[in-house]
Amino acid sequence: MPQSLKIISACLLGVRCAWDGEDKYKNDRAMRLAKRGVLIPVCPEQLGGLRTPRNKQEIRGGTGDDVLDGRSRVLTEKREDVTEEFVRGAAETLKIAQQFKIKEFIAKSKSPSCGCGQIYDGSFSGKLINGDGVTTAFLKRNGIKVIREENL
Ligand code: SF4
Repeated sequence: MPQSLKIISACLLGVRCAWDGEDKYKNDRAMRLAKRGVLIPVCPEQLGGLRTPRNKQEIRGGTGDDVLDGRSRVLTEKREDVTEEFVRGAAETLKIAQQFKIKEFIAKSKSPSCGCGQIYDGSFSGKLINGDGVTTAFLKRNGIKVIREENL
């Protein structure tokens, strides 16, 4: 049976869209799926207008849901506020999913955009908290199933 089309965090396919401009997050299982032609790569941070490379970013004092509800902000290590770009990137990602009638998103772990279930806590110390990144939270709210990269 043919696999359904999915969107996927582009960095998992070796696209150099990570904050530091590297392709370090490449996932071999995702690459195998891509070779079968069932994945559309998206980078919500780039779609939101952020450049690459860019300063490291984390959600300060909350999760992606808190950002969407206006209770938390996304800040860089240098304290620049990139909340607007994150929310725009989430909306653009949903638009791509809807245009192609896609119902599933394969998500890069721990990212403030794509993270699913766990994200960094905003202290830039490597500490994790439970919760989703901004794009993952937004896609879930709009009926998209989010698959963690570990569960591919
Ligand atoms: Fe990867 Fe998502 Fe971060 Fe883009 S926003 S680099 S796709 S984890």
